[in-house]
Amino acid sequence: MTDDSAPRPIDLLIHGCQVVTMNAHRDIIRNGAVAVRGTTIVDVGRSSELLAKYAPARTIGGDRFVVTPGMVNTHIHITGEPLTRGYVPDDTPFVENVFEWLCPLYSLFDAAEERTSGQLAAVEMLRSGTTCFLEAGTIRFLDEVVDGLIEVGIRGRVGRWVWDRPPEPSVYRQTTDAAIGHLDRQLHEHRSHAGGRIAAWSILVGHTTCSDPLWKAAKALADQHGVGMSFHMSPSQLDPDTFIAEFGQRPMIHLAEIGVLDRNVAMTHVVRVDDAELALIAESGASVAHCPTTALKVSYGITQFGKMPEMVQRGINVSIGTDGNNASNYSDLMRATYLVAGLFKDARVDPQMFPAEQAYEMATLGGARTMLMDEEIGALAPGRKADIVLHDTDRPEWRPLLNVMNQLVWSADGRGVHTVLVDGKVVVEGGRCTTIDEEKLWADAQRMGESITARSGLPDRAKFPTI
Ligand SMILES: [Zn+2]
Repeated sequence: MTDDSAPRPIDLLIHGCQVVTMNAHRDIIRNGAVAVRGTTIVDVGRSSELLAKYAPARTIGGDRFVVTPGMVNTHIHITGEPLTRGYVPDDTPFVENVFEWLCPLYSLFDAAEERTSGQLAAVEMLRSGTTCFLEAGTIRFLDEVVDGLIEVGIRGRVGRWVWDRPPEPSVYRQTTDAAIGHLDRQLHEHRSHAGGRIAAWSILVGHTTCSDPLWKAAKALADQHGVGMSFHMSPSQLDPDTFIAEFGQRPMIHLAEIGVLDRNVAMTHVVRVDDAELALIAESGASVAHCPTTALKVSYGITQFGKMPEMVQRGINVSIGTDGNNASNYSDLMRATYLVAGLFKDARVDPQMFPAEQAYEMATLGGARTMLMDEEIGALAPGRKADIVLHDTDRPEWRPLLNVMNQLVWSADGRGVHTVLVDGKVVVEGGRCTTIDEEKLWADAQRMGESITARSGLPDRAKFPTI
């Protein structure tokens, strides 16, 4: 006979904290606790109850901490840009930015540089409270990058650079068959690593760089492998103009017609859309990754043309991304969430637009849905993965702590993140990443960034003299 009242063994109890659960009721527990066994959350409740119920191998927490689910960044370029961050001037027009700066810089990376770039992005995300990401499909050396991500311990979905109607650069030029072959290979060889933390999706660069056979094959492969499909579309007028010239219809109309729009599709930007396109997105169940920082720095006119409020009103799942580090110099999703809450309040002169609670839902639950992990991440609830963030509120921007949701979005940012768990494992402690040698990472990133920009031959356009 077993004693039902005896404390049950668990690996970790986080207790004595303010717990933002993001569960179905959106409960916030003032003196709350989260019990973790292995990779999973087994219980969430009041500290007094969970302390009596469980015998933890380790305890952490205290009343200075606000505990939240890990955030989900649904669009980020982890190669290319982390190591050239800030080198591209912030006054270049969109086409020049992409084709004269970004593409040449991306094409110079070797495998070791891409691996370090991926690790730098992963460490930046983890240290600012993001535990899961969707990569943009612009990796060249996928095997090496995957290896580096496994070492850091983040959760993510990644893909190789795939397109079949390329402009320059030549290192990425590929036929339709080769492009489909890349997708097929990555979905077989990177089906699941590290207990499912890292895996490949069917990701295209998108825009106007894909033939219809490639669009269709990418969707078919996503369905066949039970994974998501992702691509960029319509940040500027270039994509709709090109689709109209080529097919006589706007991008969403064409993509719906060839069977691409679906529940397992995540599209990035989607700024220049009309109402007919919005209706098709809503009907399909596809998600949209809203990247406010890119819109600001690359001048997309998101508040002038963007229909993010209308998307949400139609029930379209809108999540948040930080994009590339030259279009958005940081990967701190808390800062991007702050912009999501604020941009349309101002643009529409309407404080009801994107309340803090809604913006935070987009960064957690919305992201989980985009990743097709609705039941696995995005909330602190029994059965979910133990992807957990402890924010230290003994900091000036957090005190006094009077309204946790308002302050998570409007006061705090990633600097206050103290401890982070992914799959129940502590990967950030005291604000430092515990899985890799951070000092070496900073030194490698600096050396490689200087080498890549020197090899590019692109001018240093910093406007002030460095003496
Ligand atoms: Zn992007």
